[in-house]
Amino acid sequence: MQTLVVDHPLVAHKLTALRDLRTESPTFRLLSDELVTLLAYEATRHIRVEQVQVHTPIGRADGVKLARPVPLVVPVLRAGIGMLDGMARLLPKADVGFVGLARDEETLVASTYAARLPADLTGREAFVLDPMLATGGTLETVIGMLVSRGAAAVTAICLLAAPEGVARVAGAFPDDLPVPVRVVTAGLDQGLNDRGYIVPGLGDAGDRLFGQI
Ligand code: URA
Repeated sequence: MQTLVVDHPLVAHKLTALRDLRTESPTFRLLSDELVTLLAYEATRHIRVEQVQVHTPIGRADGVKLARPVPLVVPVLRAGIGMLDGMARLLPKADVGFVGLARDEETLVASTYAARLPADLTGREAFVLDPMLATGGTLETVIGMLVSRGAAAVTAICLLAAPEGVARVAGAFPDDLPVPVRVVTAGLDQGLNDRGYIVPGLGDAGDRLFGQI
């Protein structure tokens, strides 16, 4: 598995504002949206394209268009929903699937409560949206679902990651797998606390996006 920590002043600026506990939900949502678009620019760097020619008002130009089948974007409920618009801005024609996982706060084990994915993903690139790569249990499960359905490549976009989560996902999807798996994130933090939260992190991403319910 490849991990890319995007090194860009705008990414760092927006991430810092997201971390700030004084940032309230409306601004948090806006910043997440913008940050995802910046991360998506890097996450789609290897997206498949095909050669095309177009006629300009002056002559013919060689170019490319996104290859078919269209990619699949999978926000992980609930916090991943806050990343969907920022991703769809760059890939408006992508299909969107959904997976819902809830984490048991005692055991930190995530269990699946909803999944709406195509049965066959043969030849398709998939992009998973999950703001926090913490223990890695959720991402391991979701990537596993996509790989088992035949996805050609899986890229996870995470606002923040912990080394423990990166190590777990890398262990589950080693480089010699035929399916390339990548994680693109705005920051790799120190680690997890005893409640499985990323330190210093930004707190509970779902609560900060949508409130504590
Ligand atoms: N989920 C969150 O929302 N935040 C963390 O720090 C870890 C998991």
